[in-house]
Amino acid sequence: MLQQFFLNGYEVIKQINKYLEQYLDRKGYRTINDFKGKVCDKILDMESVDRRHWGVASINKDKCIGCGKCFNVCIYDAIKNDKEKFMIKENCDGCGLCIEVCPVNAISMVEKERN
Ligand code: SF4
Ligand code: SF4
Repeated sequence: MLQQFFLNGYEVIKQINKYLEQYLDRKGYRTINDFKGKVCDKILDMESVDRRHWGVASINKDKCIGCGKCFNVCIYDAIKNDKEKFMIKENCDGCGLCIEVCPVNAISMVEKERN
């Protein structure tokens, strides 16, 4: 959802509100009390969360057309532009924003393990 804010600005809030209303109607929720606390039993403690593995972006060089949209949108400065050849750097946070803007689906997430 954060990605949609970066890409579309605050206009996206109207759309989110509309989808939220539709979702609540579908579920039959009329007041906050109808769903308050429903996720509490699904929350994990920190020891149960696997933080060693996470995803980072990877560019398929054969698909990339060199448009630079991923480079322009990355807020972590994690994409290197080497004469219109784009490469993911070590500091990729795995936010996925570049995937959203790539016009030819040349970017995917690959699993990485923390040291
Ligand atoms: S996943 Fe996020 S941090 Fe990583 S390269 Fe793409 S936009 Fe940058
Ligand atoms: S957005 Fe896609 S096509 Fe454009 S430079 Fe990045 S990887 Fe290549």
